[in-house]
Amino acid sequence: MHSILAATLAHATHTPQRTCMIWHGQSLSYAALVAAARTWASFYRALGLVQGDRVALYLGNTPAFLAAYLGTHLAGGAAVLINTQYRQIELEHILSDSAPHIAVGDTTTALELRITLGKLRQAGHAITQITSDGSWSGMPVHEHGSLDLPLPQPDDLAILAYTSGTTGRSKGAMLTHANLLANSRAVLEAWQWTEHDRLLLTLPLFHIHGLGVGVHGSLLTGASIDLRPQFEPDSVLLTLASGAVSMFFGVPTMYGRLLQAASGAEYAAIRSAIMQRMRLFVSGSAALPPQIFAQFRDLFGHTILERYGMTETIMNLTNPYHGERRAGTVGMPFPGQEARIVDLHSRATLPDGEVGEIQVRGPHVCAGYWRNPQASAEVFDADGWFSTGDLGRREADGYYVITGRARELIISGGYNIYPREVEERLLSHPAVLECAVRGLPDPDFGEQVAAWIVPSSFPLDAAASNTLSSELIAFCRAGLAAYKRPRQIFFVAALPRNALGKVQKHLLTQYPVP
Ligand code: ATP
Ligand code: MG
Repeated sequence: MHSILAATLAHATHTPQRTCMIWHGQSLSYAALVAAARTWASFYRALGLVQGDRVALYLGNTPAFLAAYLGTHLAGGAAVLINTQYRQIELEHILSDSAPHIAVGDTTTALELRITLGKLRQAGHAITQITSDGSWSGMPVHEHGSLDLPLPQPDDLAILAYTSGTTGRSKGAMLTHANLLANSRAVLEAWQWTEHDRLLLTLPLFHIHGLGVGVHGSLLTGASIDLRPQFEPDSVLLTLASGAVSMFFGVPTMYGRLLQAASGAEYAAIRSAIMQRMRLFVSGSAALPPQIFAQFRDLFGHTILERYGMTETIMNLTNPYHGERRAGTVGMPFPGQEARIVDLHSRATLPDGEVGEIQVRGPHVCAGYWRNPQASAEVFDADGWFSTGDLGRREADGYYVITGRARELIISGGYNIYPREVEERLLSHPAVLECAVRGLPDPDFGEQVAAWIVPSSFPLDAAASNTLSSELIAFCRAGLAAYKRPRQIFFVAALPRNALGKVQKHLLTQYPVP
């Protein structure tokens, strides 16, 4: 077995009627998925796609996304995933960087796609007639023809996955078929995922969390996915309680919304059904606040399993399936992978307990950044260790703790301040709903700590805002070293978040401050 594609084809051959996906209550089989993927593949070939060409997918969550994706691999191409919230500037960057032979949009995204391709005067075809209502029928009508192509080889490019752009311009990570397969094998083993599982998937398929973790794991083991176009707390709660699904993967903001939605007495029966019927809840893509971890356990009786990954490497570290799932930590390396902590400057390996940059190594790590040898050289060392750009430490018993991103480290008056530590302190205050901390230039200290806070009641008048600011600064001083306290606090209605719910800290300074 060389690829997720090969595993999917095997399920379609051996158990053709097995359910692969639930879409609007309708069940779609593995045989139907593969037949649809073949149609896409022969269509791509008819448009002149050859081995190694890119196909850009600018599509919402529908079964047609998966068929267009697997069809790309069947035709020998590599998929370029594009966030559907992206508009001209981001789209231009990704389309000109990846130079796809074909770009696929749906009724919602087509216009943007055509405008951008026209502006770029880029060669290649735009397929924009597929409908976004989903179902396999969203694909272009095309005769199957004979599609007698070799299956992709392990080292062939499978996905050009653009990073989320949380810290700046997104980069195209080159994931091979071997990367995807090795990663999914490790995830199946770690989370005891079997063909009997059904995953409720509300994460976007254009991101590696949804596709590389959720979809690939299901296809590899022959399990099924209940796919949703987006996350809606009430319908998610009903499905989780129904017994129709066994797993849910989400980002921390989703868990926060589930807690808000289900805390009332009228949800007692739903909560107890979720407690009994679900097998596993996984969180990742951003730090899970310990408050959410604890409240979720109290309310639903499930201990969320937090894991850590990134576009370039898919999954890196995970809390154990059996054993303690420890709040505020991301556990240990997945089977077959390695991790270590190195000093930011000397690059020497650090002892347990000391904070440095997290490096990872293993068959899951991407082949580098697309057409960017300089960026690739910056992240790989001679022994194949990949620098994640994240800071963290390893506890004596092997659990890793992420303290933030290296480039977000605040250095004030010579002291290192990890924004996450200050954020966690602020979040433990009842008047703070959400918050983000970053450094601002300071003439005396180099940088100073600033906090953007969504208060539990908003807007605040000037007097209330001054009182709460002073109270929060005093609260930080009481729990943390004085130099870590915020010097400036801005109250806002919401934080700038990307499609995955991650706070885009580089946008905070332009964010509306009342
Ligand atoms: P960009 O690289 O373009 O700035 P990004 O790093 O947010 O964007 P992704 O690859 O989607 O793009 O996200 C990976 C990052 O998300 C990790 O490097 C890490 O900073 C963060 N992350 C993922 N899981 C966790 C977690 N459990 N706890 C804390 N941070 C996490
Ligand atoms: Mg990144």
